[in-house]
Amino acid sequence: MLILVANLGSTSFKYRLFRMDESGGEVVAKGGYERVTDHASVIDDALATLQRDGVIASPDEIEAVGFKTVLGKDLSGCVIADQQTIDALEGFAAVAPAHNPPYANGIRQFAKALPKAKLVALFETAFYQWTSPASYNYAIPKSWRDIGIRRYGFHGASHKFIAERSAEMCEREEVGQIARRLYLDGPQTVSGKPFRVVSCHLGGSSSVTGILNGVAIGTSMGFSPQSGLPQNNRVGELDSGAIPYAMRTLGISLDEVERQLTKESGLLGISGVSNDLRDILQAAESGNADAQLSLDALVHSIRHWIGAFMLELGGLDALVFTAGIGENNAALRERVCDGLEGFGIVIDPAKNDACRAAEADIGSAASAARILVIPANEELVLAREVFRKLS
Ligand code: AMP
Repeated sequence: MLILVANLGSTSFKYRLFRMDESGGEVVAKGGYERVTDHASVIDDALATLQRDGVIASPDEIEAVGFKTVLGKDLSGCVIADQQTIDALEGFAAVAPAHNPPYANGIRQFAKALPKAKLVALFETAFYQWTSPASYNYAIPKSWRDIGIRRYGFHGASHKFIAERSAEMCEREEVGQIARRLYLDGPQTVSGKPFRVVSCHLGGSSSVTGILNGVAIGTSMGFSPQSGLPQNNRVGELDSGAIPYAMRTLGISLDEVERQLTKESGLLGISGVSNDLRDILQAAESGNADAQLSLDALVHSIRHWIGAFMLELGGLDALVFTAGIGENNAALRERVCDGLEGFGIVIDPAKNDACRAAEADIGSAASAARILVIPANEELVLAREVFRKLS
């Protein structure tokens, strides 16, 4: 089955075409567009390119399109992307303004461009559907909860891939299978010891998730992608009392608060340098104290959440780093693990330094928990889930 996985941003469109069957799948083509103003024309162009390059004889060969949708109002899981999905995305457009409108439009465009293909949406919130009410409820009035304000969690496809792959790397095949089939079968009882993972997705957008036997028990991200760890330019955790205080004291409007918290905060906000960690590292090395502070705040927050989930999991079998920063920044990984020997987390500095954005086990022989680097592979999760949904 040929499945196109569409990654839609407000000004970008990236795709990967997978050939999937029962035994797995492979990427047969990929491409992308930046600075997009008209998604319809780049989608048509991508399909024409695939045809011209001989990857497909006709767009009709593409049987399905998968969308990594972020947040739906009253909708999650892996669903056929229809009008209900579009309504759910638009219902929460204001909560995820950078993500929901492009996906709502993208689904409409693909329905026109590929009328015979099945469209499937896998919500980033899906991985958290089995978290406990105690972990996902905020202490707010019922009227707020009734309009859908709660912790949802994001990066579900990435953390689900970590749940699968970390189990396989730790020779826990049964847990790996449970994680893979989670959206079909739900959580399953595991024979033998529990398998406890803390997954750190550290990139332009970051989150830490606790995973027990292949199933998320909680995550650092909350109601919106403006939560949890400091993000590239979006605020992470913030006391709600800060917002009315800033509005009154700085004389700024709610729209301006929203703009500053979603565009001028996070690592950019603290460092004043950049939203890209590479620039921040350079500035910190040349003595910029604010750049150093933004790194310290990121490390502090990652450790905070690792500690929270280790306690909830009752220990740790694997600590995993993934995404742009997690895969590439050995110094940050070392700082995150610093002084955690008493908790069974001991990094091997040489293995850590030698790891180059590839799967690696960077724990020392003395480490009770495995410390793993696993490159993110969200598109593969999408392709697999679309295949399972339609099979
Ligand atoms: P992602 O959102 O997963 O693409 O990750 C983007 C983030 O990863 C940016 O903050 C980049 O600065 C960071 N990143 C990518 N490569 C490196 C690297 N070699 N060293 C440090 N950070 C990196």
